[in-house]
Amino acid sequence: MEWDPIQCHSPNAGLSPSPWKLLILFWIVHLASVTASCPTIVSRSQWGARSPKSRTPLKTPVPLVIIHHTEGNLCSSLASCSKEVKGIQNYHLDKRGWADIGYNFLIGEDGRVYEGRGWRTMGSHARKVNRISLGFSFLGSFSSTAPNAAALNAAKKLIQCAISRGYLSRSYTLKGHRNVMPTSCPGNALYAIIRMWPSGGPDPPSKNVSLAIPVKYIILHHTSGNRCNSKDACLQRVKHIQKYHMGKKGWPDIGYNFLIGEDGRVYEGRGWHTIGTHTKGWNEKSLGFSFLGTFFYRAPNATALNAAESLIQCAISEGYLSRRYTLKGHRRVSKTDCPWNVLYKTISKWPKFKS
Ligand SMILES: [Zn+2]
Ligand SMILES: [Zn+2]
Repeated sequence: MEWDPIQCHSPNAGLSPSPWKLLILFWIVHLASVTASCPTIVSRSQWGARSPKSRTPLKTPVPLVIIHHTEGNLCSSLASCSKEVKGIQNYHLDKRGWADIGYNFLIGEDGRVYEGRGWRTMGSHARKVNRISLGFSFLGSFSSTAPNAAALNAAKKLIQCAISRGYLSRSYTLKGHRNVMPTSCPGNALYAIIRMWPSGGPDPPSKNVSLAIPVKYIILHHTSGNRCNSKDACLQRVKHIQKYHMGKKGWPDIGYNFLIGEDGRVYEGRGWHTIGTHTKGWNEKSLGFSFLGTFFYRAPNATALNAAESLIQCAISEGYLSRRYTLKGHRRVSKTDCPWNVLYKTISKWPKFKS
């Protein structure tokens, strides 16, 4: 699982201490293990590909699928889609100077999948995540209209196919290009669809269900582990906590909805859409945010506190949290010291706090 800092763009940006941009991510949703039938894949020679200038092998299975749109023409026949794919390859080779067409596969409204770099070659579609992802691109421009059912079904089959052939991890994460880079790709209409699609993940118990949003409560925690103030250190902490929650506690995933580091980043736990395991009796009606660290003698630094406040604003502006929310510390609703004294005193001064 790739851990990305979450950024949120609050429309009332004046209130936010830093520019936030929303990256909605997808979380573990139950996915029936079905034996996949692969979609029709039109090979490179079938669509008339030029040879690549070079190839970098992709280490599979990869953990990520990145969805794109080509922002070119729609096509709905073998002939028109082949022509479109050729045009894109020419553009990527000649104008962008890439080794080959950027995507691993392209998907047409004819319901066919066109082989780009294929399963075993690293693509050029999402910079730093190229080496850990497969890039699938819908042929066409999908900002205001979605791809047709044939194309959407082909993409879903392609994902299952990638898993069944061992190129994609069963616990994969599905993302839109915009989730990993500043771009509008794959277009609003297509993005709205894929964000509803399941990601993979270890089969979670049925309790791992959607949170009914907007929720009324925010419950604040601390992780009671080490602090961290760099991305690398925080990622390590978050992974460690996930491992502990899943391995030792037997939970379907890391308990919190989001975790906040002293590097000022927010790390996605179960995210906005999934009920957490953080506060007995309150999980179904709250978002659980946890500060990475132990805060008995010292409060989290200003960067972390600002990030938490922005995250709350973000939750409101994106519709995940009621405007008339209540903020609580874990210790007020369960028998626990969490979050410890100094942090608890700090948050008790925040708006909407109720003891
Ligand atoms: Zn893209
Ligand atoms: Zn707690």
